[in-house]
Amino acid sequence: MRLSQRCLSLGAVLLAALAFGSTIPSSSADSAGETHRRKFMGDSPEALRAWQDGTRKFLFDRMHLTDLMDDRSKDLDSIPFEAKVLSSEDKGTYVLEEIELNSTPDRRIKAILTRPKTEGKSAAVVCIHGHGGTRQVVHDPASLYRGFAKDLAERGYVTISTDVGQHEVYEEGRTLMGERLWDLIRCTDYLTTLDQVDADRLGCGGLSLGGEMAMWLGAMDPRMKGTVSSGFLTTVENMQDGHCMCWDFPGFSDNFTFSDIYALIAPRALLCQIGAKEREPGGFPPNLAYRAMDDIQQAYAVGSNGHLATLSIHSDGHVYQSAEGAAFFDKHLQD
Ligand SMILES: [Zn+2]
Repeated sequence: MRLSQRCLSLGAVLLAALAFGSTIPSSSADSAGETHRRKFMGDSPEALRAWQDGTRKFLFDRMHLTDLMDDRSKDLDSIPFEAKVLSSEDKGTYVLEEIELNSTPDRRIKAILTRPKTEGKSAAVVCIHGHGGTRQVVHDPASLYRGFAKDLAERGYVTISTDVGQHEVYEEGRTLMGERLWDLIRCTDYLTTLDQVDADRLGCGGLSLGGEMAMWLGAMDPRMKGTVSSGFLTTVENMQDGHCMCWDFPGFSDNFTFSDIYALIAPRALLCQIGAKEREPGGFPPNLAYRAMDDIQQAYAVGSNGHLATLSIHSDGHVYQSAEGAAFFDKHLQD
């Protein structure tokens, strides 16, 4: 099975090289039997980078973000942030601020920013909640998120969290997933404007929909040096059974499955967490996560610089493992 897949992949390299950039899609089935026409099938770091660049361009287009991304690539200040601090709270070792900033020319978002009370530059992590959550809940130790944003703030990280749980499209001509991702990209852009943030040490993490959005942010924004995607790694087929369908958009599931999106993160550090108690339908069971990780590893195998993708199966259910996540960021976002 593995050998025949490998032969198929090697044989497809030439075809992929010839077809790359054209509209002729490649075709492959993954180990879960899913078809994803735009899967990476190359065998060199150069082929991986070319596939990633082309795939990001394709996906930004299908998410209806190309105009915003183009303006931003010319000038990061194309949309002034006009950030305002709405409230500030002293948390002992860090300060927690409620802030507001421009996400698009016509739309402002709220976010929670934490800054350590230390001198010098810090690593920063975008912390992302799931369905029914809010930007505040990632700070709550009693929640499924185990207060991982609070943990990171206490460990000296700058953190930012915003709301991505909406199910309506805010602006005409946009898409739901596009707007969710764009708000996270803008939060990241904002982090890079802060004197306290080391822009070379950025990461993201989240659980459930937050694990999905961490996947998207890590995949689409190469500034992310470390990604923790908790309670999400699975297949499109599983997400079509018992899950809210907000993950799909025109151009996505007919061309990709989730392992393809995770492959956009290679060779940067990736940790996926899945609970052993997760079950179908409606959950994210380990057997599907193993299969998806097997596919992701094909991209890491050719592009690895030592930061391999890791799947951690923990003994709990649908919860974020905060200590493990913090240790991952300590390792990959260090000086
Ligand atoms: Zn949903």
